[in-house]
Amino acid sequence: MRMSGPWQRAARGAMLLDESGRSRPTIFAEMSALAVATGAINLGQGFPDEDGPAEVLEAARQAISDGVNQYPPGRGMPVLRDAIAAHQSRFYGIQVDPDTEVLVTAGATEAIAATLLALADESDEVVIFEPFYDAYAAVIGMSRATQVTVPLRAPGFQPDHDELRAAITDRTRLIVINDPHNPTGAIFARDTLTLIVQLAHEHDALIVTDEVYEHLVFDETHVPIASLPGAAERTISISSGGKTFSATGWKIGWITAPAALIDAIVAVKQFLTYVNGSPFQPAIAVGLALPDSYFATAAATLRAKRDILSTGLSAAGFTVFRPHAGYFVIADAAPLGATDAAAFCRALPARAGVVAVPVTAFVHQDRQPEYATLVRFAFCKRIEILTEAATRLGTV
Ligand code: PMP
Ligand code: GLN
Repeated sequence: MRMSGPWQRAARGAMLLDESGRSRPTIFAEMSALAVATGAINLGQGFPDEDGPAEVLEAARQAISDGVNQYPPGRGMPVLRDAIAAHQSRFYGIQVDPDTEVLVTAGATEAIAATLLALADESDEVVIFEPFYDAYAAVIGMSRATQVTVPLRAPGFQPDHDELRAAITDRTRLIVINDPHNPTGAIFARDTLTLIVQLAHEHDALIVTDEVYEHLVFDETHVPIASLPGAAERTISISSGGKTFSATGWKIGWITAPAALIDAIVAVKQFLTYVNGSPFQPAIAVGLALPDSYFATAAATLRAKRDILSTGLSAAGFTVFRPHAGYFVIADAAPLGATDAAAFCRALPARAGVVAVPVTAFVHQDRQPEYATLVRFAFCKRIEILTEAATRLGTV
């Protein structure tokens, strides 16, 4: 049976095509399965172990009871598109038209896929930052565009401006940023965002920004690149309710962008999922309208969790790169004798009853040496779980 096809480019892009030509599951799926199989604490895949706000959960239940169970409109329910537009205005002073400049998607994942498949072609280059979230590389592979990476190096994981200038050329169609960044927890400095906007103008490129961790920021405020002068007209901003409302399984994401770009992305999106999650759409609208205190508390709670795990990792002997945002902390296992993060992570359940993810899963072969001993741990878990994990890691 002939098995060749675009799936190979997806798997190869995400570095999941094995030697025998088969696709492996993502590192997140692999590590969650390992946690289930070994009974270890799962600090691998990033998902919370507690539910989000009761009002949001109740709104979904209510919507199901009220019969909101059929196809929603293709661009998303008006109540959610209005809430997304109001959210952009309230938090960032960004004005978008909910009818023409907002698109609801099946999570940020579909937003990324539809955007890249709509806008990147075989002859285009797409710039991403490395380590990168796997979906970017997989979808660039499917689109047949060429991937160009800019490294983010420890300890700060900020891009070097000269490397950025060298990567963005007239061949660049899209510059994909992930701010705040997974897996490093970095927030791009404002002068970096300004340079990206400037380079996008110079080379007539578009900016795609994945901001799913926008509300999980610890020590500073989140500045969406679309709020910078000259950016909005060429920026596709992506977010999702999964992280902000601790509902990663609901898969309600969204895009805000100029109307012509939204139209182009809809042309693809309508044949990926068409629509999704009707009862969850009004529920996420309720979430987006929660008072400021909800968002502040969510960030502060996660910040405290970051500190517990980071302190535990330091005490266990890791070198910790304390993140500024998001669900994850990167720790260097070299002081513990590790030479290969993947091997270290495979052994960790037996050694310490903890699952984590090697950062090497997010970087290409040629850059592996720079990240060889770095490990990503999720801290979006209950405090008692993090405390127990820290105790266990103290024994490795
Ligand atoms: N982008 C980044 C950087 C992520 O970490 C994730 C998921 N954890 C996603 C996108 C996917 O978001 P969603 O679950 O809304 O599809
Ligand atoms: N974003 C989650 C993480 O980085 C994983 C989501 C997924 O499994 N695709 O852990």
